[in-house]
Amino acid sequence: MKKALVLGAGGFIGHHLVRYLKKLGFWVRGVDLKYPEFSPKDEADDFVIGDLRDPEVWQKILDQEFDEIYQLAADMGGAGFVFTGENDADIMHNSALINLNCLYYLKEKKFKGKVFYSSSACVYPEYRQTDPNNPGLKEEDAYPAQPDSEYGWEKLFSERMYFAFHRNYEINVRVARFHNVYGPEGTYEGGREKAPAALCRKIALAKDGGEIEIWGDGEQTRSFLYIDDALEGVRKFMDSDFLGPLNLGSEELISINNLAKMIMEIAGKKLNLKHIPGPTGVRGRNADLTLVRQKIDWEPKTPLRVGIEKTYHWIESELKKQGRI
Ligand code: NAD
Repeated sequence: MKKALVLGAGGFIGHHLVRYLKKLGFWVRGVDLKYPEFSPKDEADDFVIGDLRDPEVWQKILDQEFDEIYQLAADMGGAGFVFTGENDADIMHNSALINLNCLYYLKEKKFKGKVFYSSSACVYPEYRQTDPNNPGLKEEDAYPAQPDSEYGWEKLFSERMYFAFHRNYEINVRVARFHNVYGPEGTYEGGREKAPAALCRKIALAKDGGEIEIWGDGEQTRSFLYIDDALEGVRKFMDSDFLGPLNLGSEELISINNLAKMIMEIAGKKLNLKHIPGPTGVRGRNADLTLVRQKIDWEPKTPLRVGIEKTYHWIESELKKQGRI
């Protein structure tokens, strides 16, 4: 039986990945500061609560051979966490330390399997994302570098470090750039939630005919990748010989205002959008999937409307369970 180690297994993508790998027949060890919020902790065969900034934790979790390692652990969140500037030092320090430890210990242990690193669309330069009709970011567009957040700079540094360890120590890396992954069982409040989940929560809680707040003018655009598609992309990437970097995203571009309208339709509510000052990130961001189609024959299958319906209904049911609606 193949063995996988999922770092960040208590997080959104991580706990879905644990479930997915179990279905594929892997023995899975998860590691995180916390257990998954919305699913049973025993989905993994073994779950270690530990701080990946701490070298001792690495000694403990690498006590056996793994075929595949998925490095998803990062100090991250949505625009409210990443773009205010208030968390910059922690974001850079904590995530870099996790990646420094990861590569150092994989080298020390002479790791022979594959390691997946989850980079982000946030590595792309601000100057290529000023148009809401963004034609799609190609992998090579990351340079000359000018990410609009420290989160993006850390990801770019770490991407480079994964490739450097590949060149110098033959670590078998796969570096993917996720573009706005969303779906059920993700954080929807507390300050780290992303736009789709935040909008679903606000709309679910609002009374029909009421109002919800949107940061900025809402004309900023993004594309969003449904979690099941993301997992399939990760799997195909791991099974390929290509090292990356590779976009895992969608080409279905939508403005935040139109996303809010889509969710209102799903909810059957008419609400006023009140635009207030807030962190918005770049003006327009879309993924170009030319390389990923060519290298691993993958593209997302889930239309945004379908994925958002599933996400909205899950968030609505969570809020109902809590007696909030
Ligand atoms: P998440 O915040 O839900 O998961 C990250 C997990 O890492 C959390 O559970 C957190 O507790 C854990 N973690 C943080 N610091 C740790 C530490 N010191 N030791 C152990 N665990 C620690 O985020 P996610 O949405 O599941 O994203 C997973 C990865 O994908 C992250 O690296 C993220 O940067 C990247 N990514 C995600 C998206 C997205 O849209 N979700 C987009 C681009 C990139």
